[in-house]
Amino acid sequence: MGTKSIKEYTLPAANLGNARTLKAIHYGDQTAPNKAYIQAGLHADEAPGFVVMHHLIDFFDRADAENKLKGHIVLVPVANPIGVSQWRDEALQGRFDFFNNINFNRRHLDITAQIAEQVKDRLGDKPEDNVALIRKTAGDILGSISPPDEAAALKHQLLLLSFDADIVLDLHCDYQALMHVYLGTPLWPDAKDLSAQLGAEVTLLAEDSGVTPYDEACSRIWWQLAKKFPDHPIPSACLAATVELRGMADVSHPQAQQDAQNIFWFLQRRGFIKGAAPEVPPLRNEATPLRGVEHLKAPAPGVVVFLKAPGDSVNKGEGVAEIVNPLADERENCITTVKSAVNGIVFSINTDRFARPGRILAKIAGKEPIKEKGADLLSP
Ligand SMILES: [Zn+2]
Repeated sequence: MGTKSIKEYTLPAANLGNARTLKAIHYGDQTAPNKAYIQAGLHADEAPGFVVMHHLIDFFDRADAENKLKGHIVLVPVANPIGVSQWRDEALQGRFDFFNNINFNRRHLDITAQIAEQVKDRLGDKPEDNVALIRKTAGDILGSISPPDEAAALKHQLLLLSFDADIVLDLHCDYQALMHVYLGTPLWPDAKDLSAQLGAEVTLLAEDSGVTPYDEACSRIWWQLAKKFPDHPIPSACLAATVELRGMADVSHPQAQQDAQNIFWFLQRRGFIKGAAPEVPPLRNEATPLRGVEHLKAPAPGVVVFLKAPGDSVNKGEGVAEIVNPLADERENCITTVKSAVNGIVFSINTDRFARPGRILAKIAGKEPIKEKGADLLSP
């Protein structure tokens, strides 16, 4: 008999008679000491993750039928039932909540201070005991929180499903982009096998991106507590990553199936599936600091013509895009060249071609930090 079970969680309705449901698929032993959690579509307008999830379900159904699962695996195929309903002008607008304008992948719950307060006199000398204590305390704190609205309830429920997981993968995509991964700095190089297996061209590390995306809500607790209590061993017990599955339109069965296979192999190596995965492929590029990412902004309005594509290297001072303004008074002023401030790899460019001052046109991964600690390191 298989272990697969589906649980549904009803969110508090924001509209009369319109309560939405979040669905989680559980595989394996739900009381196992090791837990992996994967979700897709927290930004509901990012399609590739849903298709990867479709193939992951196939992989796990098969492994379950062959009795190969070890540990507890949770898949949330559609993590944002609010966002998937937000259609406007023939496009799905699943990044920001229509009611409060908050990005669905920002301002997740940070309960580090509350945990610290409750565990400060109870931590011991054994890392595994400290992990168990912190998880129990986190569960109690989350259980006592009453979210004020539907979007907060969604964020709360997603964290309730994953706060005690050893591995959390949050599947996203960028506009037009290379495969890339966001991770906590303390998780590197332990998580090298994830980036390498996914074929990530860029891995971006931050201790704190300043805006608490979902992966950090799961993982940052651990190194913040370790810093706060240096006399007690507290490991980084949750490897949480935001996986950017290339660009919005990069949706195909062969690619999604390969991505699902890569995630499956990663989890197999990490002890969630019996049997041996193939050898980890070499890492394509060493990780770089998230503080080294230049979010290249438009200085003027106009139409963007890119000079570089995702995957291209740029040097400091080199042009990445031109902004064309056919109304310029002088012909020589009709083009503004937008130049890189770093040496690095262009890993994402915007999909549409309209600029207004301040709009992000491209993202470039540089090796040296260019932003202050504590700055908002992510795009809106
Ligand atoms: Zn996203």
